Amino acid sequence: MFKESFRGFILGFATTFKHLFRKPVTEQYPEYKRPLPARSRARIILTRDPDGDERCVACYLCSAVCPVSCISMQSAERGDGRRYPRWFRINFARCIYCGLCEEACPTLAIQLTPHFETCEREVLKLVAEKEDLLVNHGGKNNDYNFYRCAGVAMVGDKGTHINEENPVDVKSNLP
Ligand code: SF4
Ligand code: SF4
Repeated sequence: MFKESFRGFILGFATTFKHLFRKPVTEQYPEYKRPLPARSRARIILTRDPDGDERCVACYLCSAVCPVSCISMQSAERGDGRRYPRWFRINFARCIYCGLCEEACPTLAIQLTPHFETCEREVLKLVAEKEDLLVNHGGKNNDYNFYRCAGVAMVGDKGTHINEENPVDVKSNLP
């Protein structure tokens, strides 16, 4: 026990001692901005699919999962059944950049970017509306198109599609 503690003590001081003779590394920010990995979690954007349509389907999953409740929106529906957010708001003054909204999003609409220089003196300027968030590209995955996989609106009744079974009448299960 004593031997192990002593070993840990010596190793700790050896690491400190080693750094005494190393050349200091000072990055001259903001003159030099270190390139950050694409997966860095900072400023949030709303992306578009390859057809140029906004990807967000206003499913509210991101706002439900957000631990600090800083995302809000109102859903709307186009004539062809495609959903979209009438407005979409993120309060960056509350955001903790945890990335949970990006994880939850089924359409890859909401994405975090490495852009971290978002400080403002007035806190209200940190409230971003849809027009501030929406970009003209697909972000990390330009090719993904949620509606090409899922379809926009259901065609035909339940049970009429290929390999689809007829819906169960749940009342038939009652005693
Ligand atoms: S990164 Fe986290 S805190 Fe920020 S909006 Fe997304 S879920 Fe909320
Ligand atoms: S950003 Fe994604 S998770 Fe949030 S409402 Fe839009 S589609 Fe749903």
